[in-house]
Amino acid sequence: MTNAYAYACRDCEGMEACPASVVAESKEEVWKLMELHARVAHDEDPADWDQATRDYLGTLIKPVTV
Ligand SMILES: [Zn+2]
Repeated sequence: MTNAYAYACRDCEGMEACPASVVAESKEEVWKLMELHARVAHDEDPADWDQATRDYLGTLIKPVTV
């Protein structure tokens, strides 16, 4: 059993149809994977995310045990 962090894109408002989720050992890694996913799947530039967006996305990262 390992403690990890997970993010499911469908939890994000407006992304209910997106099947992607990421899980990684650290929050930092989850953020990197989220940013990559946003870029590849949603054509978003994470550099454009303001603090409110990052705060909101941060609430969607959940601790999990895998
Ligand atoms: Zn997505």
